[in-house]
Amino acid sequence: MTAVLDPTCAARVSGADLEVPLVSGGTARYANFDYAASAPALAQVTDRVTELLPYYASVHRGAGYASRISTDCYEAARNSVSRFLNCDDDQVVVFTRNTTDALNLLASCVPGDTVVLDIEHHANFLPWLRRGRRVVPAADTVAETIRRVVAELCTKPAALLAVTGASNVTGEVLPLERLAAVAHECGARILVDAAQLAPHRRIDLRHSGIDYLAFSGHKLYAPFGAGVLVGRRDWLDAGQPYLAGGGAVREVRTDGVDWAPAPQRHEAGSPNVLGVAALAAACDALTELDERATEHERRLAIRLRDGLGGIAGVRFLRIWSDSADSVGIVTFTVDGLEPGRVAAYLSAEHGIGVRDGRFCAHPLLARLGVDGAIRASIGLGTTTADVDRLVDAVDVLVRRGP
Ligand code: PLP
Repeated sequence: MTAVLDPTCAARVSGADLEVPLVSGGTARYANFDYAASAPALAQVTDRVTELLPYYASVHRGAGYASRISTDCYEAARNSVSRFLNCDDDQVVVFTRNTTDALNLLASCVPGDTVVLDIEHHANFLPWLRRGRRVVPAADTVAETIRRVVAELCTKPAALLAVTGASNVTGEVLPLERLAAVAHECGARILVDAAQLAPHRRIDLRHSGIDYLAFSGHKLYAPFGAGVLVGRRDWLDAGQPYLAGGGAVREVRTDGVDWAPAPQRHEAGSPNVLGVAALAAACDALTELDERATEHERRLAIRLRDGLGGIAGVRFLRIWSDSADSVGIVTFTVDGLEPGRVAAYLSAEHGIGVRDGRFCAHPLLARLGVDGAIRASIGLGTTTADVDRLVDAVDVLVRRGP
């Protein structure tokens, strides 16, 4: 099921007219404020999967027609990703299961220490433990945070600086070109966890200086199970194959193996062809979307912040006082009300889906001094009416009292 969005945006998403049951016994149109967890499929994605299903076949080496179509589609998907990110000639596209998988893969290839901030999603925090992780505590401003990163990188050499493109807790966006420049000046490379950034901002790898980047299909309006690691070939060619098995080799003998270079080196086993094709369709669709999409989200995020900000006891989570940009994530607490209770109320009484908890970012929540919050995240299917419903519902709850 698809629906047309606000007139400012031509994209369509699945489930836009979903009716959900309410505790009152009635139903309501589902208002999805959980895009940061997983975004519903774009119509272009649904169409591509439907088109491909008749050619259901595994890739590479199959001579049959369906297998050749599947192979062409799988390899063409690398070009879609490459176009979407404007990759450098030296950057290779490896398909993974999701961002977590991509970051673990890269962690197995990094030839030295990795510097990370303490604001990261666990997926960009835990994998680096494997090869020497150095944690820099973020400061209250972006400017001071960058100074701390530089100090850490200059004091002791590191191979990699791993940073989020946009915080999954607050939506705040880091100045990536600046961070890439400081990493390079200190002899390190930079990885961007773009799980939250890629769905909302166009990223230009060729011109930004970003060496490695990871994102998930399911946050980019495609289904679960396919993700991407893009990056410089040398580390990926030199690293241990992520999985040992068919497809990752040039030649296997009883007494040894000649591994293939990246990307095949890290893609052993039968790949998720449909997931990758769907992810590529999402990349193609987002490549076509112009500034109106970003503007649509920005407008709604401002409306949501303004609306919630007018309600007594609502407090927003924010890392930096000087961050210049953020994607459509609005995370807040309500004085005297447990986040879980607010989220359950919004769902049961209003058919509104938000997320509550610690968002797989325990160190950041500890820094911000809260042990849980409510996250409302916006995407291409969000409408002005959805935003107003959410604000009104929180207002009703607060007036009702604890
Ligand atoms: N990084 C960030 C910033 C995220 O928000 C998430 C998921 O919420 C991840 C990484 C992990 O993504 P996945 O679960 O698709 O591997």
